[in-house]
Amino acid sequence: ARLGPPRGDRRICVCVRKRPLNQHEAAMKDLDIITIPSAHVVLVHESKQKVDLTRYLENQTFCFDHAFDDTASNELVYKFTAQPLVESVFRGGMATCFAYGQTGSGKTHTMGGAFLGKAQSCSKGIYALAAQDVFFLLNTPAYEKLGLKVYGTFFEIYGGKVFDLLNCKKQLQVLEDGSQQVHVVGLQEREVCCVEDLLNLVERGNSCRTSGQTSVNAHSSRSHAVLQIILKSRGALHGKFSLVDLAGNERGADTAKANRKRQLEGADINKSLLALKECIRALGQNKSHTPFRASKLTQVLRDSFIGQNSSTCMIATISPGMSSCENTLNTLRYANRVKEL
Ligand code: ADP
Ligand code: MG
Repeated sequence: ARLGPPRGDRRICVCVRKRPLNQHEAAMKDLDIITIPSAHVVLVHESKQKVDLTRYLENQTFCFDHAFDDTASNELVYKFTAQPLVESVFRGGMATCFAYGQTGSGKTHTMGGAFLGKAQSCSKGIYALAAQDVFFLLNTPAYEKLGLKVYGTFFEIYGGKVFDLLNCKKQLQVLEDGSQQVHVVGLQEREVCCVEDLLNLVERGNSCRTSGQTSVNAHSSRSHAVLQIILKSRGALHGKFSLVDLAGNERGADTAKANRKRQLEGADINKSLLALKECIRALGQNKSHTPFRASKLTQVLRDSFIGQNSSTCMIATISPGMSSCENTLNTLRYANRVKEL
């Protein structure tokens, strides 16, 4: 079978991916404190101090739908996370896939692949792998008769505002109409006819994302990037897949030192990540009320959190080093809450 394992009727999948120690961490003699003893379990060996100041390791165990160790390829991660969602979109679903974690933990590597994550190898990320399956499925007997067309949008959310990455970072208004439909007014939607088209769109959007910024990474750690793959049948919406590379979840370590702008950025990121957690939990519990208005991020993704056809996947990315222990535990606790019913 070309597509991944069946998901049953579960609508939420929460996975963790550990990246390898990088050269910098290795040079600093940072210790790898994460082990993944099975495909579902993450162990954190936290260094603690006794009253007599001797140190010991305290183990904490977390369980997820999937746990990927540092040898897992993007293809493997894709197969268990986003791939099942692609087919749901063809069946008329609204799907979302989030990469969540601290800056430098591998979100962009997972979503964008080497081409955005800047790894040495030229591995494809979830954007490219999902696009491959979209254009494969488009021409299979089950779906070709629908006459589907594929469109892409690419925007970022920064400081509670939406910017169109396909239109020179133009700021867009988000409006809700009388029937609670959310519209990002003027968002550019481009037809894409092959994998290359979609990747070109991402590349163009990404270069516009960084213009006027000191660096891609500095900026991307403070904003959410949303790539949407939209299927339309004779002009009408058929299904939508939103792939989200979230802002870094690390707390401003030293808020007293951080400037005002950084504090506001941090507060907004925090607000949107909390809102996201609540919206995914509401989806998992089939709650009638979804608090999507609590942030711009959840507001623009409203369609994906309501309705019977919505499903979501979160990939929590973690750094292996002891120096990241606090952020790693925060990421794992958040992911745990998302998954918990
Ligand atoms: P983030 O987007 O979360 O800030 P990145 O995806 O940019 O982090 O990753 C930071 C660095 O670590 C990049 O150089 C990236 O190539 C590398 N990296 C991340 N995840 C992996 C992985 N699973 N395997 C190898 N290198 C990785
Ligand atoms: Mg990134």
